[in-house]
Amino acid sequence: MNYFSSNFKLGILGGGQLGKMLLYTTRKFDIYTTVLDPSAEAPCKIACNEFHEGDLMDFDTVYNFGKNVDVLTFEIEHVNVDALQKLEDEGVQVYPSAKTLRTIQNKGIQKLFYQKHEIPTAPFSIYMSLEELMHGVQNDVISIPFVWKSTQFGYDGTGVKVVRTLDDLHNLPNVECMCEELVNFKNELAVIVARNVSGEIKTYPVVEMEFHPEANQVEYVICPARISEDIQAKAKKVALQVSEALQHTGILAVELFQTQNDEILVNEVAPRPHNSGHYSIEASYTDQFEQHIRAILNLPLGNTASKVAGIMVNLVGAEGHTGDVVYENIEKIMQMEGVTPHIYGKKQTRPFRKMGHVTIVNEDVAAARKVAAEVKKTINVISK
Ligand code: ADP
Repeated sequence: MNYFSSNFKLGILGGGQLGKMLLYTTRKFDIYTTVLDPSAEAPCKIACNEFHEGDLMDFDTVYNFGKNVDVLTFEIEHVNVDALQKLEDEGVQVYPSAKTLRTIQNKGIQKLFYQKHEIPTAPFSIYMSLEELMHGVQNDVISIPFVWKSTQFGYDGTGVKVVRTLDDLHNLPNVECMCEELVNFKNELAVIVARNVSGEIKTYPVVEMEFHPEANQVEYVICPARISEDIQAKAKKVALQVSEALQHTGILAVELFQTQNDEILVNEVAPRPHNSGHYSIEASYTDQFEQHIRAILNLPLGNTASKVAGIMVNLVGAEGHTGDVVYENIEKIMQMEGVTPHIYGKKQTRPFRKMGHVTIVNEDVAAARKVAAEVKKTINVISK
């Protein structure tokens, strides 16, 4: 099919920053795009050809939007999967498929999928409500500590809590949930796998998430991960195992734990471009967004190798600041070598809201890491 400068229409569900970065590629290739998002101020608005405001969880809205496109993709998992299924049944190409989304949309179903396919993952149990979970704790079926996860609608850690005491249980919402063994991991790693419609597969290098020692928040995504070749190979093998089992189309980001015994466990996956691949815009031959577009349009996949080492720092809203955003000291970080800020276009900041990210590239990963620390210390996302 001719996608370029033609009548072909690509539909994207979700108009956030991931969509906006996907649109850099569709602009480059001159592919016509239409985007659906609930917010009139969605970051995608400036770069798509058509923008529609609407609820991504509403069957009719998603169905009617999808009926008018040739290929439909999404940049967020919280979309109406029944509408995707009906569109697929009626001949619209939906990538990743409704089946893939159904498998990962609920974290409980996702974990059962790993179990079924003998993919290494932390032991878990699923509960329909908080009472059921409490009952399990009272009867010693579940032992503390453990990690509580809401099976649906969590993002960026909002649906995840480490339960260390009985008291912690009382603050949890009454929703379907999962208890997972608390993994004492050495490293958190991620591997992005791209798979096109014909089944061509490529993996990106293993990246490492470096945590703040006290706040327990990811501070840096580092590519390449500072781990042995042996562990890199193991991580890629497990990621490919997930990809093979899922038979997804598009980008699949596989989040992994490296345990103290150097076992690799799958934490979770996202079948779309992912925060752990943002570094690729500046550091890779083919960035994850272009790769996703290539994959879902069944074009040849691009080179996943890195040109240089890349480190990504998230720009999140500072605590105590809500309102019109200001990027304090952005000029200072732009004076530093190899530094590129990405501003998502959200006008309002609030504590911990993802407002942008900064990429630092350098021939040498240790040098990039030093600049990254400077960036982190210098820039501040505050309100006016
Ligand atoms: P989200 O979908 O919100 O990103 P995750 O399942 O990735 O949630 O969990 C968020 C973070 O919580 C992970 O990046 C990891 O640091 C920590 N975490 C999640 N599961 C476990 C676990 N079983 N053991 C230890 N830490 C965990």
